[in-house]
Amino acid sequence: MKTIEKKEIKSISFNQLKKELEEMGEKEFRSKQIYEWIHVKLIDSFDEMTNLSKDLRERLKERYELSPLKMLEVQTSKVDGTQKFLFGCSDGHVVESVLMGYHHGNSVCISSQVGCRMGCTFCASTIGGLTRNLSPGEMLSQVYQIQKYSGKRVSNLVLMGTGEPLDNYDHVIQFVQMLSDQHGLHISQRNMTVSTCGLAPKIRELAKEGLQITLALSLHATTDEKRRKLMPIAKRYDLKEILEACDFYFETTGRRMTFEYGLVAGVNDRSEDAEELIRLVKHKNCHINLIPINPIKERDYVQSTKSDVEKFKNKLEKCGINVTIRREMGRDIDGACGQLRKRYMDLPLKGEQ
Ligand code: SAH
Repeated sequence: MKTIEKKEIKSISFNQLKKELEEMGEKEFRSKQIYEWIHVKLIDSFDEMTNLSKDLRERLKERYELSPLKMLEVQTSKVDGTQKFLFGCSDGHVVESVLMGYHHGNSVCISSQVGCRMGCTFCASTIGGLTRNLSPGEMLSQVYQIQKYSGKRVSNLVLMGTGEPLDNYDHVIQFVQMLSDQHGLHISQRNMTVSTCGLAPKIRELAKEGLQITLALSLHATTDEKRRKLMPIAKRYDLKEILEACDFYFETTGRRMTFEYGLVAGVNDRSEDAEELIRLVKHKNCHINLIPINPIKERDYVQSTKSDVEKFKNKLEKCGINVTIRREMGRDIDGACGQLRKRYMDLPLKGEQ
């Protein structure tokens, strides 16, 4: 007998759940109760829904799957308390997320895809290519499980883990809407950042969604030639097209853009690069985030020296540009994107563990 695949209930929006419960012959207040169990109380089994009858819980179990991710491993940094989590999906794939404590709150960095097909040459997440998109429920599960495990309220979210969020567009939009939904954790969209390598048409589409999120563009280079060497996606959309899309994003949403600039020694951290960057952004209302590149063992990129990073920053600051250096968190725990997952996948006999 062929088993019927169950629908994943965490991916269902508040309004959709109401409809589905109605179809099951249930009153409206039931869907509210169920949504609250899943998205506020963050339970992991239908049996914990103690204000529902046993019969309804059984019918829900027949139709829906509730826990799409299982926590497999947690690493805690001895340096700054940053925690890195490895989750297993129902189909055996693994994804990773990070919890960082800042003075302004607790920030979670989540993955949007299993693997990535963008091919950035400095990034560990893309080495095995793209396996599949994550569902909204799998993205929510990363946040929920981290909040439950740590006992800390998650206040900020960045989509900077494995994957290209705008390559999983519909699921990411639904995830953002559900995470900010007043019936759920109700995290402010203003505290969410979606980072993209620069899918220009999708940036324009995102601008029109009516969201309040921050958009971060992974810029990393100031000429098309250099950018193409670091990021294959730059062959599809050149800097002019991407920066115009970013301007459109700012004009449409009123949200200030962030440009991420990963500093690689000798590649893009020279004085000329800073000057070129100033030329590109000086008339924009934006924030520059300098990221000392995290070396990965598969590539021979070298992180810029502390003094070169400072020099680069000072140059921008002198021209009145809003710039910060990203604090390196969790250096001692496979800090860079995709490294924990990569290490896990490289383990011999991982299937049997
Ligand atoms: N695909 C999206 C989001 C995921 S990557 C994007 O490209 O923006 C999140 C950020 O980490 C991006 O700015 C990415 O370029 C950067 N990143 C990837 N590998 C890195 C590494 N080894 N060191 C530092 N930053 C890295």
